[in-house]
Amino acid sequence: MTSSKNSYDVVVVGGGHNGLVAASYLARAGVSVLLLERLPHTGGAAVSAQAFAGQPARLSRYSYLVSLLPEQLIADLGLDLRLVSRSVASYTPTLRGGRAGGLLVERPEGDRTKESFRELTGGDDEYAAWERFYGDVGALAEVVAPTLLQPLPLEREVRERVDPAVWRDFVLNPIGETIEERFTDDTVRGVVATDALIGTFASLRDRSLVQNRCFLYHLIGNGTGEWRVPVGGMGAVTDALARAASSAGAEILTSAGVSGIRAGAEGAEVTWHDESGSHTVAARRVLANVAPWVLRILLGEGEDPDTKPQGSQLKINLLLDRLPRLRSGVDPRVAFAGTLHLAEDYRQLEAAYADASAGRMPAELPGEIYCHSLTDRSILGDSPAETHTLTYFGVHTPAALFEADPDAAKQLAVSRALAALDEHLAEPIESCLARDADGRPCIEAKVPQDIERDLAMPGGHIFHGDLDWPWAPNRTRLETPAQQWGVQTGVDSVLMCGSGSRRGGAVSGLGGHSAAQAVLAER
Ligand SMILES: Cc1cc2nc3c(=O)[nH]c(=O)nc-3n(C[C@H](O)[C@H](O)[C@H](O)COP(=O)(O)OP(=O)(O)OC[C@H]3O[C@@H](n4cnc5c(N)ncnc54)[C@H](O)[C@@H]3O)c2cc1C
Repeated sequence: MTSSKNSYDVVVVGGGHNGLVAASYLARAGVSVLLLERLPHTGGAAVSAQAFAGQPARLSRYSYLVSLLPEQLIADLGLDLRLVSRSVASYTPTLRGGRAGGLLVERPEGDRTKESFRELTGGDDEYAAWERFYGDVGALAEVVAPTLLQPLPLEREVRERVDPAVWRDFVLNPIGETIEERFTDDTVRGVVATDALIGTFASLRDRSLVQNRCFLYHLIGNGTGEWRVPVGGMGAVTDALARAASSAGAEILTSAGVSGIRAGAEGAEVTWHDESGSHTVAARRVLANVAPWVLRILLGEGEDPDTKPQGSQLKINLLLDRLPRLRSGVDPRVAFAGTLHLAEDYRQLEAAYADASAGRMPAELPGEIYCHSLTDRSILGDSPAETHTLTYFGVHTPAALFEADPDAAKQLAVSRALAALDEHLAEPIESCLARDADGRPCIEAKVPQDIERDLAMPGGHIFHGDLDWPWAPNRTRLETPAQQWGVQTGVDSVLMCGSGSRRGGAVSGLGGHSAAQAVLAER
């Protein structure tokens, strides 16, 4: 199918959730928009899929929880979308002195949380440190969150509104140093630290502070940092956005892979291919929902292996006949309702990073698990009552580990991830797996190479590249609307519109919102 016109105000390259956000805002403002998506469906990494033949469950195949999508954006676009809270924030099973236990953090935190800290650490100091730490994080989030839908603030404008000690601990010093100063227990330190490593390959003490930026994004969503469950799965987020874009008048073409952008200062031509051949349209502005590294190829600059991002995560989707019992005796409906941390003690995180940096699969693979269906059973269709989904997100498995022998390395990574879970279970996870129509266990794993192949995220990097601070360095020139919104590319007619823009990253819609505002500000 080809486009209805030869020329548009805006062509959006890529139909990820950010591309849909941009298309929605622009079409609602009366801008003519064509969106081109290479896959047969929109959504990019924010989709649901029936991953196992013969099983009706529709799993959030890649991304699964939402925090950074602003309530204001949901209201602006009138999205029919429900995000619900989990009753448990996290559970971290432990084995100390041969005894199985665990650290429970409720949502909201109450007596059981305090008691759990006391049992694990032998006193109340660690929980008091935890409350102070997250109080400081909350104060920082309250300053940063309201700026996310505004033009970029300068660093000093944010800094002057934050307590200098908080700024030092979270923005200037490596987050690992702050965590080591403020906490003593290795498990507690690890639970705190993991937010710095989701989709980010770094030591917690890395001087680049890429881990601090990751940490900040994970804790500022809507000013609370709460990660909520999208009812209906991630596909429901994309479906709501696609409906908003179409009903506002945006034209959406799927199975339309863009192969080139010829860009000048005043406008651009975009060429794409579908089964009927090659097509070209003109646009005043092109919005790139693809990664910056992919955009450079589309602009004709060639592939530069030295600047290619490298993803580092292992995603495993599982469908279970029943939830497994835990050795600690905790109710699995409590343990799996929030984030269940595995091999994520602070020392284990740093050891895994050292292993992976040296080219070895981490001996103990850090990762976390969460069960969507304990909060929202709607994704299960007519599955039997005890059926549940589990999502595993592993860190410190960089793409380089899978290059020499991809199949063997993937098998090793999956077996280590499952071993880290089995260590805390009273029955092996394999015994709980559902079977697909061919009798195979319902488990699928995605290493960075799979993510790149499926989604065209270069190197399988889940944020299209390392995250930036959500403010501009003090001496940045913020003259054009594109610069003011952090979506400039070096070519005036092409703007970033995805995870790779300054405040993109995660299912936030911020990349799409910023791109749309920059286009509207130019009018
Ligand atoms: C395994 C995994 C787990 C994650 N978990 C979470 C989570 O729980 N919560 C969270 O907030 N974030 C999570 N993330 C990150 C988040 O999903 C991404 O940052 C976000 O989806 C990026 O959205 P986007 O619209 O910018 O880009 P994408 O989702 O990457 O969409 C870009 C689109 O462009 C298309 N495209 C690429 N090249 C072309 C071309 N040449 N022509 C046309 N179309 C093209 C792609 O097919 C894709 O549809 C996760 C990501 C992954 C991979």
